[in-house]
Amino acid sequence: MEHRPIAATVKTPAQHFTGDVYLTPVFSGDGTSRLVVGLVRFTPGARTNWHSHANGQLLQCTDGVGLVVSRDGTVIRLRAGETVWTPAGEEHWHGGSAENMMCHYAILDETPAGDATTWLEPVTDQQYRTANIAANATA
Ligand code: MN
Repeated sequence: MEHRPIAATVKTPAQHFTGDVYLTPVFSGDGTSRLVVGLVRFTPGARTNWHSHANGQLLQCTDGVGLVVSRDGTVIRLRAGETVWTPAGEEHWHGGSAENMMCHYAILDETPAGDATTWLEPVTDQQYRTANIAANATA
């Protein structure tokens, strides 16, 4: 077994994220494993672009209040201890709520080519507001 060092936390690229988001890489599989795990911390209002994952993605919320939204309009309010699975190919975004930070582990199976995540366009402020209103209505 291997006791791994804690990787440096980096700010995620503005090309794929809106607002201030920080990533601490936890694991990236080697050998026969293609497991990728990262701890992602979103500040209030921050979110990913729209995107999809070739092999799906598991989001495990550790702190705060956030949103996970799919193209069909489904809005999930994500709180500490809760889990969301986004199936392979489903376009979605995740982020903090308008008023709170949100931290989650993002867990996925990488592809052999290393292109498991397909990045799309940014989530507009209007889309973000609409999702927050929907989340508040169902809270
Ligand atoms: Mn995702």
